[in-house]
Amino acid sequence: MDPTHDPSLTSWIESANGGGDFSIQNLPFGVFRRRDEDEPGRIGIAIGEMIVDVTACRDEGRFSGLAERAAGACAAPVLNPLMRLGAEPRRELRRQVSALLAADSPAYRSNRRLGNRILVAQRNAEMLLPAEIGDYTDFYASVHHATNVGGMFRPDNPLLPNYKWVPIGYHGRASSIVPSGTPVRRPRGQSRPPDADSPSFGPTRSLDYEMELGLFVGPGNPLGRPVPIELAEEQIFGFCLVNDWSARDLQAWEYQPLGPFLAKNFATSISPWVVTLEALEPFRAPAFARPPGDPAPLDYLTSPANAESGAVAVSVEVHLMTARMREQGLEPVRLSRGSAAELYWTPAQLVAHHTSNGCDLRAGDLLASGTISGPARESRGCLLELTWRGAEPLALPGGETRKFLEDGDEVIMRGYCEREGAARIGFGECRGVVLEAG
Ligand code: CA
Repeated sequence: MDPTHDPSLTSWIESANGGGDFSIQNLPFGVFRRRDEDEPGRIGIAIGEMIVDVTACRDEGRFSGLAERAAGACAAPVLNPLMRLGAEPRRELRRQVSALLAADSPAYRSNRRLGNRILVAQRNAEMLLPAEIGDYTDFYASVHHATNVGGMFRPDNPLLPNYKWVPIGYHGRASSIVPSGTPVRRPRGQSRPPDADSPSFGPTRSLDYEMELGLFVGPGNPLGRPVPIELAEEQIFGFCLVNDWSARDLQAWEYQPLGPFLAKNFATSISPWVVTLEALEPFRAPAFARPPGDPAPLDYLTSPANAESGAVAVSVEVHLMTARMREQGLEPVRLSRGSAAELYWTPAQLVAHHTSNGCDLRAGDLLASGTISGPARESRGCLLELTWRGAEPLALPGGETRKFLEDGDEVIMRGYCEREGAARIGFGECRGVVLEAG
C-alpha cells in the first residue's frame, strides 16, 4: 500500500469526506458527457459528488512523468488507450491525482478556483460505457451458485465433476452491454413450459438478474502467449458491477448442448465507474478456502501470492423497486448481500485460465465472475436461487410477491469495500428498469 490508501487522507472536495462510495482513497475511472454539451465521451475520475476531468487537469499542467503519459491516453473517448498502457502509468496518475485532490494540496492552496476548472458535478453528467468492449466472457466462479442451480436440476449430483478443477465460462456478447440506467426490454424467445408438448415463442415469463463482478483487461497478451498466474494481475485494470440479465425459460430450453445463447445476450448492464486494482489493495483477501476433500488447483492456477491475497473482498447487494412500490413512495428493498471473497476462483486464476491455451485478451475486454452467491440464503445473487425456481416467492413491502421480474421492476446493484483500518470505497450503482416486451 502507499500514501493514496492512508485512511486519514481527506479531500478539499467536501462531498468526498462523508464515508460515501467515492472517497479520495477510491478514484475510479469512468467516461462521461456533460449534459448540456454535444460532445464525445470524456475520461473522468469520481470524487465525492464530483468528477475530475482528467484532460482539463492535464491542460492545467498538473501532471508529470508517467502520469502525464497516462493522462495523455485519457484524451480518448474511451478508457482502452489507458488500459493498454498497463499498471505503472496508471498507478502514477493515481498518486498525482490523489495529491492534487488532498486537503493539503499546494495546487489548491495557491488557487482556490482550481475546482471550477477541473470538476464537473455528477448530477450534470451522463455516464457512458467506460470502454469499447471487444470481447466479453462470463464465468461461473461461485461454487455456491453452481451448487444451488445444479441442485435444482440434479438433486443427487449438483456439481459436475469438472467444476472444482476448471473455471467454467462461456463467450458472451459485447454488443448488448449497456451502462447503468439503460432500460432493458423484456426479451421474446422460444421456450417449452414443463407441461407443454412443444415449444412456443413469446415474451419470457421468468426474467431474472445475476449479481456479478466484472473485470476490465489491460494491457492484454499476444495470441499464443499464455499469461502465467504470477503475472495475471498485471492484466487487470479494474472492476465494475455486472447485471447479467437472464431469461430462465429460454435458457432451460436452449442451453444444451452448447450453453447460454439468446437467454443471456439481449442485455448486460454494467456500473459506469471502474474501481482500479490499486484502490482495492486494502481489501485483498486469501483465495477461497477449499473444504477438505476438494482438489488443490493445478499448478498453472496456483501461486503463493494468489493463495495469500488473490481474492477481492467486495460486498455486493441487490435491491428491487417495483412500479407499485415507486407509486407508494416506498424505498427499494434489499433482496440479497454477498461477497466476491466467496468466489471459488480468484480474478488472477480466471485470467490465467482464459489465456492458458494461448487465447489473447485485449485491453477493454470484460470478464465477469458469474453470479455471486454465498452459503447463506440471504447471499443468493439471483431470483432463480432466492425463490428456488419460483417455488418460494419473495414477499415485498407493499404486499406484492415476486417469483421473477415483472415489467416496471427496477434492479439496483451496489458494491462496496469496508474494513477496520481502511477508508470505505464503493462502486456506485448498476441500475436497470424492465420494460414490457416490444
Ligand atoms: Ca452469468
